[in-house]
Amino acid sequence: SAPLSVEDIRSDFPILEREFDGTPLVYLDNAATSQTPEPVVDAIVEYYHTYNSNVHRGLHQLSQEASIAYEDAHDRVAEFIGASGEREEIVFTKNATESMNTVAYAWGLEELGPGDEIVLTEMEHHAALVTWQQIAKKTGATVRFIEVDDEGYLDMDHARELIGPDTAMVSVVHVSNTLGTVNPVSELTDLAHEQDALIFVDGAQSVPHMPVDVEAIDADFFAFSGHKMCGPTGVGVLYGKKHLLEEMQPYLYGGMMIEKVTFEDSTWHELPWKFEAGTPVIAQGIALAEACDYLDEIGMDNVKRHGEALAEYAHERLSEFDDIEILGPPADDRGALVSFNLDTVHAHDVSEILNAHGVAVRAGDHCTQPLHDKLGVPASARASFYIYNTREEVDKLVEGLEDARELFA
Ligand code: PMP
Repeated sequence: SAPLSVEDIRSDFPILEREFDGTPLVYLDNAATSQTPEPVVDAIVEYYHTYNSNVHRGLHQLSQEASIAYEDAHDRVAEFIGASGEREEIVFTKNATESMNTVAYAWGLEELGPGDEIVLTEMEHHAALVTWQQIAKKTGATVRFIEVDDEGYLDMDHARELIGPDTAMVSVVHVSNTLGTVNPVSELTDLAHEQDALIFVDGAQSVPHMPVDVEAIDADFFAFSGHKMCGPTGVGVLYGKKHLLEEMQPYLYGGMMIEKVTFEDSTWHELPWKFEAGTPVIAQGIALAEACDYLDEIGMDNVKRHGEALAEYAHERLSEFDDIEILGPPADDRGALVSFNLDTVHAHDVSEILNAHGVAVRAGDHCTQPLHDKLGVPASARASFYIYNTREEVDKLVEGLEDARELFA
């Protein structure tokens, strides 16, 4: 597809025109949440203006329209990530975190026990780490961690050592939200499947930024969030292979997810509704499908190229400072983000000074506390990029950092 016109794209995001006392916003916190383009906002407005209604139950016209749009949204998302089972393999949740909890509770609580091992990586987001840790405590299973090496890559020898006959689940982050590392998920899938283990891939930072094909990866489960990919907050996705979702018991119970209910017992609705208890995320799900259209219009190859080029440029510019430590892999081998520390200034102070320059970055542990502990830093600042960011904005980040350094000199 044609190269991406950042100017055209920016015009779809009115929020990018914001200024603070004359200082324009430079939004570099996209790994936390991306901004929302007009067509996606329009889809939400259109829903509430013209066919807001509950789904699956009403026989009236509005409910039929809402039901069709909501159900079709599942197919659209399935297409976006290469799930040939269409809607049956796509569960809408609240966010990636809820997607993980769904598998941990629905599959993990049932299937895991003493002697079983859950293999994670040291770079897992708390969404996976804390969830599996607690499921392990409840079931008696053991959690093990594939080590991260000095460059920010997974130690694949260690992975081959850890993933063995006792492994029941391998849960790995596709792209690290702290290091920017793009993990070899297909290789990890092969290792898991050779041991008859399942693999759960956390795609929160991959699906927004690169073409993803869950079937090429051969992931058993795959999770991501709408709000990091031009979609609204309040909707996440759980992909699961159809036969696994069919075998699994529901995680949440209530209306909509049942087929037949008596005072004694209940049976479950077909996929994916079995996993969507109560009134689901109707407007958000429909808007997420619109976000898929928006990104496909640009072309995911373009999205990837643009984000990675900005991360590479930022890495190069930050490398010019002797007193900046960059976390993770080299400039030309990372996702669309750069986490770093300025020797003498705490990440929180860095982000405050950058904020005075209009530059929004994240400071903290980015929900990877154990990884920061291992790296020996309490926190880091993170600049993360998306389709509307420019090299000039990276330059503004660097100017802000020069200011921070002077203030604390
Ligand atoms: N995994 C990764 C790698 C993430 O970056 C995030 C968001 N920071 C999550 C999981 C959790 O996403 P959410 O907060 O939308 O559930």
